Amino acid sequence: MSNTAQLVVIGAGPGGYAAAFRAADLGLNVVLIDEEANPGGVCTYRGCIPSKALLHVAKLLSEARHATAWGIEFPEPRLDVDKLRAWKDQVVAKQTSGLGQLAKLRKVRSIRGRASVVDAHTLTVATYEGGEETLPFETAIIATGSRPTTLPNTSLGPERLLDSTSALEIARVPKNLLVVGGGYIGLELGSVYAALGCEVSVVEMTAGLLPGVDRDLVQVLQERVERVCKSVMLDTKVVQMEEVVGGVKVTFDGRANPSEQVFDQVLVAIGRKPNSEIPGLERTRVEVDRRGFIGVNPQRRTAEPSIYAIGDVAGEPMLAHKASHEAKIAVEAIAGRKVAFEPRAIPAVVFTDPEIAWCGLTETEAAEQGTPVEVAKFRWGASGRATTLDRNDGLTKLVIEPKTERVLGVGIVGVGAGELIAEGVLAVEMAALTRDVALSIHPHPTLSETVMESAEVALGESTHVYRPKRATATSKA
Ligand code: FAD
Ligand code: NAD
Repeated sequence: MSNTAQLVVIGAGPGGYAAAFRAADLGLNVVLIDEEANPGGVCTYRGCIPSKALLHVAKLLSEARHATAWGIEFPEPRLDVDKLRAWKDQVVAKQTSGLGQLAKLRKVRSIRGRASVVDAHTLTVATYEGGEETLPFETAIIATGSRPTTLPNTSLGPERLLDSTSALEIARVPKNLLVVGGGYIGLELGSVYAALGCEVSVVEMTAGLLPGVDRDLVQVLQERVERVCKSVMLDTKVVQMEEVVGGVKVTFDGRANPSEQVFDQVLVAIGRKPNSEIPGLERTRVEVDRRGFIGVNPQRRTAEPSIYAIGDVAGEPMLAHKASHEAKIAVEAIAGRKVAFEPRAIPAVVFTDPEIAWCGLTETEAAEQGTPVEVAKFRWGASGRATTLDRNDGLTKLVIEPKTERVLGVGIVGVGAGELIAEGVLAVEMAALTRDVALSIHPHPTLSETVMESAEVALGESTHVYRPKRATATSKA
């Protein structure tokens, strides 16, 4: 029997393990290589899963504090950081060991180690045990993910300087924390530390938080971020960081006042870099662009026909569900099926409080592309469910093609937006018309009604928005 694997997958994140599992289900003999004992990748070990476990705790803390407004007074919570960390680690272990079981059940051969490329049909793996294994393969999928971008010229030690991985460890809760970067990670982890009682400041080099996201959605979040954080410094850059007694002296260039401030710790969250520097990759025809992303076609095949690439290493958006969807496309293409990666809607969710979620065409993209759209908005002030939750700080909007009344995109800010956006994905993927959404009976009282009501706003028929006649303006409500 040949020892050539039909498929080798490098990296066992949500891209890599989804690919290995699907390939095994299709009857291929599969080898999955990763540095960890179990599958999971960044997402499960040091990304999506641990951060969401901590954000769950943050939400509980903030609701408990808010409960005084409803006549319930809890004493100030006592924090046991070791226990919190242990619980978060338990969540990760439960997920990753479950994935390990699934790999075994599917008879995926897992090798723990680091892969290098020999040629277009051979890899070597420096194994965890200290050996080296040569692996001939018919096809390989590169799913090596990404790592945090670092700030240049910083000599601070890990006690003062955090990245997303060390921040998730919560070695301690600093007195005050500077978060560099007002993107996904900065806002999610910043809100965890703020809820744990740390004084958080955010510095963002562009003019607004979450650059690229529709401003009306961000505005709702920003109002709350400004309340829970000590300061939000926009249009501001960090020019110098220097260790001083008791902290880090940070020099800012921009709107920060004062321009020099001392922080206990600094969390850098300024984006991620693809892990495409796999030793030996240059011996193949695989192409890597200027930003480090591996070039792929709609089947996720690289310029080297035996090698595919998926997930963070194969381009933006760097999201777990995009990686696992690409995984299925790549494997099915390898199995000879006629498939292509051509989603109409890749949802994005920022798990802050309130959450922001969007899918399909955004209002910002439509404006940039000069695509005429009609935008219908339903503010949560008119939502019964939002009122019962005391969370009227929300907005649901539909981006609609004026001629056909097709829903091209959905944007939501508010509690639970991450769950609500799934309906938007279905509407966009299924090419739903505004009327389809309006005619679908939504349960009352739920936040999901805001999707239906925004469709009704577009049609001039919303029960909870006073608008007697169908409007002709391009932006409604
Ligand atoms: P990864 O998950 O990065 O996995 C790649 C794996 O390959 C790693 O295990 C790595 O060790 C291994 N590897 C690399 N090189 C080699 C090699 N040479 N040999 C062997 N193994 C190798 N996305 C979401 O969709 N939702 C979220 O809520 C979310 N939250 C996040 C929170 C944080 C703090 C971070 C950092 C990221 C978050 N993301 C989230 C992004 C998400 O984690 C990534 O998009 C996703 O993990 C990408 O999956 P992947 O399969 O491409 O690679
Ligand atoms: P990001 O791209 O989301 O945000 C980085 C922010 O830092 C941007 O706003 C950018 O303008 C700013 N910035 C860059 N350089 C700066 C500097 N020198 N000073 C001040 N600000 C600076 O990156 P991230 O937050 O590191 O997250 C990386 C990626 O991980 C995300 O883009 C996303 O794909 C993924 N992620 C997703 C989730 C989720 O799905 N909920 C959560 C976390 C991470």
